[in-house]
Amino acid sequence: MAESKANDLMERIVSLCKRRGFVFQSSEIYGGINGFWDYGPLGAELKRNVKDFWWRVMTQKRDDVVGLDATIIMHPKIWEASGHATTFADPMVDCLLTKKRFRADQIEPQSGIAYHYGGAEDSTDKTKTSREPYSVLLAPGKHPDSARKAARQFYAQRGITEARLLEERTEKVENSIRFNPENGSLLTEPRLFNLMFKTCVGPVESAESTAYLRPETAQAIFAQFKTVAEVSRQKVPFGICQIGKAFRNEINPRNFTFRSREFEQMELEFFIRPDEAVEAICGSVARPASPGHPGEPQANWGWQMWHKYWVEERLAFYESIGLPRTTLVEYWQKPEELAHYARATVDILYKFPFSKRDAAGELAGEELEGIAARSDFDLSQHQRFSGKAMGVFDEELKEAWARLDEAKKAALSKRYFESRRNYLVKTGEDPAGAEAKAREEAAGLGRGNYVPHVIEPSAGVDRLALALICNAYGEDTAPDEKGRMETRIVMRFHPRIAPVKAAVFPLLKNKPELVRKAREVRDLLRPHMTVFYDEAGAIGRRYRRQDEAGTPFGVTIDFETLGEQGAELKDTVTLRERDSMKQSRVKIDTLAALLVERIR
Ligand code: ATP
Repeated sequence: MAESKANDLMERIVSLCKRRGFVFQSSEIYGGINGFWDYGPLGAELKRNVKDFWWRVMTQKRDDVVGLDATIIMHPKIWEASGHATTFADPMVDCLLTKKRFRADQIEPQSGIAYHYGGAEDSTDKTKTSREPYSVLLAPGKHPDSARKAARQFYAQRGITEARLLEERTEKVENSIRFNPENGSLLTEPRLFNLMFKTCVGPVESAESTAYLRPETAQAIFAQFKTVAEVSRQKVPFGICQIGKAFRNEINPRNFTFRSREFEQMELEFFIRPDEAVEAICGSVARPASPGHPGEPQANWGWQMWHKYWVEERLAFYESIGLPRTTLVEYWQKPEELAHYARATVDILYKFPFSKRDAAGELAGEELEGIAARSDFDLSQHQRFSGKAMGVFDEELKEAWARLDEAKKAALSKRYFESRRNYLVKTGEDPAGAEAKAREEAAGLGRGNYVPHVIEPSAGVDRLALALICNAYGEDTAPDEKGRMETRIVMRFHPRIAPVKAAVFPLLKNKPELVRKAREVRDLLRPHMTVFYDEAGAIGRRYRRQDEAGTPFGVTIDFETLGEQGAELKDTVTLRERDSMKQSRVKIDTLAALLVERIR
């Protein structure tokens, strides 16, 4: 029941997106292309506002984060260093009957009676036989003949058109993911499928010219770390952020834009000192002691404190654009879910209408953003694969180290040595080589050298836009022109990210004074915000169109504005608020300042 309601809501949202030009299928006139979406006029503004606001908050308003705009196609070695060339793969399975492809880890477990067959022979032509085994899971309540029918179809595809099924046997099956949930047919064994899109650079197609469309924006930040640090004269701790397209050849794009094959990411790599360096400089390492935001960054913060800080900053960001905390879930990955290099990862989930439900029937949420403490893995990998040093020199550490007593130096060196040796062994270095390299690096720590660690908040623009659309969607009732109540669809976007901030309407389009004045007001507001001018149709209809677009403010120029209802109302307009539908009179010369304050 809850599920069908959710599907219904999602259908209404998708339909509004298409009707009002938020999002529609790419290449629609050719039937679309699966996993690719275009943003129409309102969607393009929404996305731009999301990205601009993220950029403002994450870099422009901070002293310790700088921006980067790198290419989509990069040197293929980058993907070897990052591990994407070998491990960025999902397990896929195909339906043996329909050939439909699924991600093996997303198959819903099913129970029932499995019908197994050892093969089939053609009853009209005995030379045609197949010994290929095949199975079908019979859903509860279904007649065994439907399993046999599916099996005959399977063998018919192998040229046995009049199949006599061989060696039928049945087995009770519980929570199996070996069968297609749509038709019960057996699936192939899982095979790994690399999600990177391949292309060729230059006129010759060969192994040497193979390159990839980036599956994430982060790697460019690591590869350019040294250059950016140098040119921006930043010192650790500091961050580099980037917004850009990413491409993944997802096996099963679904849930509208949630899982697309082309999408945009907003990523920050925030580089921090290893805890051993913090301890050498500050005497101890601060770790989170209480829940909530840890406050302004401090020199004695270790990686856990920085990680917590970014989780809280990111949650506050979502709240500041209108996603209430109750719609978000802070999910701490369990140790067994963590990538091998990650020390901790928090996923911020949004409760989309299509999210799975937990045992209590609550929406469990789907990932909007992951915030990972990635240790020094990324820069270390690029150091190994490029042969270029990725470490930094930290003057403060060098000076602090000189003041430490020998016991402290030994303890910190030992810990640093162990963490470097672990990294080297985990990434394939032989134990003796790892030992020697780690020892050398531990000695470097005392000279002020180390490879920075990183905290990575990585968000998807499209998933966020979809969350904002789902969150904004509302239906209520409002009076039409004749005062009759009718259903109103209203997109309650936060004014910060609303595609259009204000709509300007002359009350009547055939009154030149009203039209002239309305255009003046439009031109007055336009330098400060996106404005939509509309003079067509009854005023109630025009309000309704803007409610659907999510425009927070409507400004109507009426006879009062012209001074026809008394001199005291001259040069005032009706300001109508989308959510409350309340109307008030505002002086034209204060209007821009008032609205600017509400949309910033
Ligand atoms: P998922 O588990 O959902 O595939 P992920 O953990 O692989 O996501 P990351 O590699 O952490 O995702 O990417 C960071 C962010 O990029 C995600 O939180 C999400 O917002 C966005 N993202 C990743 N894959 C897609 C996709 N196929 N379509 C849209 N956005 C995506």
